Amino acid sequence: MTQPDMLTSFAISGAASLFGLFMCFAVRADQARLGYALTLYRWGFLFSAPTLLASLAPADRARLVFQAAQGCTAMGLVLLGWASRQLQGRRTPPWVGWGLTSLVGLSLWLSAWGLPQADYAMVLYGVLSLVCLAVLLEQAWAFVRSAKISLSEWGLLVLLAGLVANWVIHLLHALGDGSSGPYPEHWMHAPDWWAQPSAIVVATWPLAWVCVVVAMLNERLLQQLHTRALSDELTGALSRRGLRELGERMILARRRPYDQLAVLMLDVDHFKRVNETYGHLVGDDVLRHVVQVLQDRLRDDALLARYSGEEFAVLLPIRQPHEAKVVAERLRSSVEGKPAQTTAGLVNLTLSVGVAYHHPVETLEHALAMAESSLAQAKQAGRNQVALSLPEEAVDTLPPASEVVPS
Ligand code: GH3
Ligand code: MG
Ligand code: MG
Repeated sequence: MTQPDMLTSFAISGAASLFGLFMCFAVRADQARLGYALTLYRWGFLFSAPTLLASLAPADRARLVFQAAQGCTAMGLVLLGWASRQLQGRRTPPWVGWGLTSLVGLSLWLSAWGLPQADYAMVLYGVLSLVCLAVLLEQAWAFVRSAKISLSEWGLLVLLAGLVANWVIHLLHALGDGSSGPYPEHWMHAPDWWAQPSAIVVATWPLAWVCVVVAMLNERLLQQLHTRALSDELTGALSRRGLRELGERMILARRRPYDQLAVLMLDVDHFKRVNETYGHLVGDDVLRHVVQVLQDRLRDDALLARYSGEEFAVLLPIRQPHEAKVVAERLRSSVEGKPAQTTAGLVNLTLSVGVAYHHPVETLEHALAMAESSLAQAKQAGRNQVALSLPEEAVDTLPPASEVVPS
């Protein structure tokens, strides 16, 4: 077998990262969450691009330039992992993301500066193994928890597993046979049988990651289009049909037997007066405002729909039955505490809320009807309050959703 040319592999790797950077500028996303993920991907590919410079470095500087470039690559990997989290809707506080990125870069640069060659090589392979393993485990955990793993998500897992295997083999070699060097200028010191695969991994990983990013974005954008087709035109909340379709899916996707589903029905109090006092257009603004306030206060896994005129429904996965009442109360007080800013000035609003629980052996329609009758109780009791379909003691004894009958 011919010995691979590692320098060429690094040049390809750096060029592919620049290609990834370009792709992340070329792709457009109109949603803030996806836009932020794209920004992080750009940073990730930018940081992994300096290996291109390393392959162009003069021979007497090559080692140093490679050390600098490998610190950057490790930072790039952290950023790409962070971006993938963001793309899937899992947030990371920026100080944590940038803190970890800097920590990884600094640890490699400082050990390049202060440690003997053999120790630096071990730190290099160790840090790269750890970063890739952490990203792999984090992604795998999220995919296991979601109902279905898509092809692009499998692609990312395979890519990350390949990277982990590559760096662990280098690390084991550095700990064993290869601990005394000699270390080539690009620091990739692998057993002979792994030299060729290692060169292939180094050369192709950024390109593979770009393909995964594009495929994942494509999936997300299609999902968005689909959601929009199921949305109400005025407020952007789900339509009734959307609620039914995504609600059924939510019921089927629940895997853990202790998960339950609460159904909240929310109605704006005396909304007719808003229309009569300020006109229909202001009434429309008020409805948009209410959806905004509700959406801001709901977790990402809840579904919000416009059920009819000024009545909204929420499907809420819950762990503890009392969570539903807490959320209902939070939504009610948020709308009360935040008057709508309209062209006619501030409009004060209140909400009545009915809460019901989806019983595993009954249909979603049934739970919605129960929530409506709780809402009627809240209205009767004087409005601007929350009413439950069951007394709280009974709620605590609801059976687990282990057996699901979709409506
Ligand atoms: P309650 O406290 O009992 O709920 O009283 P309400 O006035 O809010 O309830 P009612 O159901 O009597 O009135 C609902 C009003 O909502 C009547 C209808 O004109 C208005 N409405 C329904 N859809 C829209 C819409 O898309 N835009 C506007 N501006 N008003 C709407
Ligand atoms: Mg009303
Ligand atoms: Mg109504």
